[in-house]
Amino acid sequence: MEKLAINGGYPVRSGKIYYGRQWIDESDIYEVTTVLQSDYITCGPKVDEMERNLENYTGAKYAVAVSNGTAGLHCACIAAGIGVGDEVITTPLTFAASANCALYCGARPVFADVNPETYNIDPESIRVHITEKTKAVIAVDFTGQAVQHREIRDICDKHNLIFIEDAAHAIATKYNGEQIGSLADMTCFSFHPVKTITGGEGGAVTTNSKELYKKLILAHNHGITHDEAMMEGAPHEGSWCYEEISLGYNYRITDFQAALIVSQMKKLDKFVSRRKEIVKQYNEAFSEIQEIIVQKEILESDTCRHLYIIRLNLDRLNCTRREFFDAMSAENVQCQIHYIPVYWFPYYQRLGYRKGLCPNAEEIYKGIMSIPLYPRMTEQDVRDVIHAVKKVVENYRK
Ligand SMILES: *Cc1c(COP(=O)(O)O)cnc(C)c1O
Repeated sequence: MEKLAINGGYPVRSGKIYYGRQWIDESDIYEVTTVLQSDYITCGPKVDEMERNLENYTGAKYAVAVSNGTAGLHCACIAAGIGVGDEVITTPLTFAASANCALYCGARPVFADVNPETYNIDPESIRVHITEKTKAVIAVDFTGQAVQHREIRDICDKHNLIFIEDAAHAIATKYNGEQIGSLADMTCFSFHPVKTITGGEGGAVTTNSKELYKKLILAHNHGITHDEAMMEGAPHEGSWCYEEISLGYNYRITDFQAALIVSQMKKLDKFVSRRKEIVKQYNEAFSEIQEIIVQKEILESDTCRHLYIIRLNLDRLNCTRREFFDAMSAENVQCQIHYIPVYWFPYYQRLGYRKGLCPNAEEIYKGIMSIPLYPRMTEQDVRDVIHAVKKVVENYRK
């Protein structure tokens, strides 16, 4: 057996590898610097191009570019009319923003539990948590796998709820052959550097509803309109006129970030196929290891994975998750944990949430670890990660 680096052995590789990383090339740099030398560095033609490209790619009728994924979620909640006294059902196994956006609007996030095998929000648990106050469901395509659209759509239609999809992980995923972005009432994307494509920061919301689109436009631009037909004041005094007709925010994206996203979108197919190749190699390597549980997928999801999670079967290992994580780190494979259940955070505890709310999510959290997955990984990188996982498992096998 190879001696673990954490016990004084040689690490599987000399340089650290991280769980995610952007891929910026010369063409991206060229596109960004071109915008920086132009007349428009914000709200220019690249923002329009980004929105039209997202509409084409997702098949949604409308796309609104925003400054980041969190801003997109906030705008979606505003457009959904979520306010004080409302409840919004979401998952605890997500980044805090998926629930925070409800709090921004004065609403209360309600946490539904996840499916123990797919880790995505369980439609049955959504159903159980519906009250007269429920206004929307924010379902997260966790790790990139599509949520159960058919079931969630049925629930939302039956109870008159708005279906918001947090697709920060899932820009390139399809559900039943249809691209994510065209299915929920509103779909929110993030272009943070760890996500599938990046703008440094950046986000977007897509929808097929003209009404929601108009509200999204207002929400991300101070609630201000230049459209005479939408203005309330009369008479119209001149071409300089604009009106604030609702409370909005400045959640606009810059033109140079949009240029980066447009440029990255050109490489999306390449990124997706590389991610899929790596996932295939990981699945093959880990499905044979009894100590590792691989995330299950629903048949309907053609997934572009953003994260690859291994779940430790701790009953079969002589170590804690923390010891496993530290051992991987010493092998120079830096993992991450996605995610600590949102309601465990002190802020949520102060709002009255208690541990134990979602037993499946809490049980999953205990054993999960995200290993490196990004398109720029070389074959050697992939082999190193697999090697490190196997080495650590062997050392801690019961
Ligand atoms: C990254 C992420 C967000 C927030 O996106 P930002 O662009 O960082 O604001 C929201 N939800 C999930 C699930 C995410 O992973």
